[in-house]
Amino acid sequence: MNEAAPKIAVILVAAGRGQRAGAGIPKQYRPLLGEPLLRWTARSFARLSRAPAILPVIHPDDADLCQAALAGISTLPPVWGGETRQESVLRGLEALEASEPHLVLIQDGARPLTSNATITRVIAALAERDGAIAALPVNDSLKRGDATIEGSVARDGLWRAQTPQGFRYRPILAAHRAARGKALTDDAAVAEMAGMTIALVPGDEDNIKVTTEGDFARAERVLLSRAGDVRTGSGFDVHRFGPGDHVWLCGLRIPHTHGLVGHSDADVGLHAITDALLGAVGEGDIGLHFPPSDERWRGAASDAFLRHAVDLVRKRQGIVAHLDLTLICERPKVSPHRAAMIMRIAEIVGIDVTRVSVKATTTEGLGFTGRSEGIAAQAIATVRLPL
Ligand code: MG
Repeated sequence: MNEAAPKIAVILVAAGRGQRAGAGIPKQYRPLLGEPLLRWTARSFARLSRAPAILPVIHPDDADLCQAALAGISTLPPVWGGETRQESVLRGLEALEASEPHLVLIQDGARPLTSNATITRVIAALAERDGAIAALPVNDSLKRGDATIEGSVARDGLWRAQTPQGFRYRPILAAHRAARGKALTDDAAVAEMAGMTIALVPGDEDNIKVTTEGDFARAERVLLSRAGDVRTGSGFDVHRFGPGDHVWLCGLRIPHTHGLVGHSDADVGLHAITDALLGAVGEGDIGLHFPPSDERWRGAASDAFLRHAVDLVRKRQGIVAHLDLTLICERPKVSPHRAAMIMRIAEIVGIDVTRVSVKATTTEGLGFTGRSEGIAAQAIATVRLPL
């Protein structure tokens, strides 16, 4: 490798339709701590100090899912995958031909926990070799059989292959073209068939490919363990009653004898949560981000304010761990709407409903809330940032 930094591309292989780990959408788009699995995978590469070009290879039916999952992350336009993983990788490699990277890393889209260190080791090994893959030696004894053991398999010299699998671009493109239709299980096998020498470099036990429901739970545990810097923020808001026949509370339109007065939709619940999140990451308050003097926010739906605060948390690779909101009013009654409020907040923030709490209290007829002049809300947000 010469002195200049090599030009590197990453192919994110995400064309599978696998829904084994749950219903509905393909697993690479399912939320992991509120964000699509594929987003975590892409971010493993986007956050490198010299970020490579990221090329998602996806199923054409998933174009919208992919766009939403990777919003705000700089990538090349997605390429449509083929019938098999191998065909999908080949299409990705072909799409890179015009830009001609020196090196290409091939990464499973459903492998969201790949560390900087693992990626760096694979890239470093490519200075000496045509190919290098992240892998782990097999430490457990290996058995062959069905319900009972039919034999033991020597584990010496056996490795479990992970991704990224990195290669010099031209040789792996040629190898994939030659191996077309051969049904090999990974890119290293394609490279082997072409006679390339491939280095085994240490992967990481946490670098799992998320497949089962249990894998989702494990991936969440790993991400939480990496985000040990726990922050809290508090938020408080008040809006007065005025003429109207409904109020907006926690993103829901609730019929009432009055409306709430405010520049936006006057959703005190979402405003208090937004301020709590901003407080947890030291980003000022809602008025700083959305000044009442700005006509853009007249009558605005407050979920946009909350999403902005969540974005600021996630830009720091943070996780919204918990939100606890208390609504303070005599009327309207909150309890009939509480479950729906929790669901709506969880939906806006992109977290599980078990991480949201909505409570309500009156002030026993005392003060402005007691006189039903308005509604107050206070919130506490718990956020976890990487250490
Ligand atoms: Mg407000």
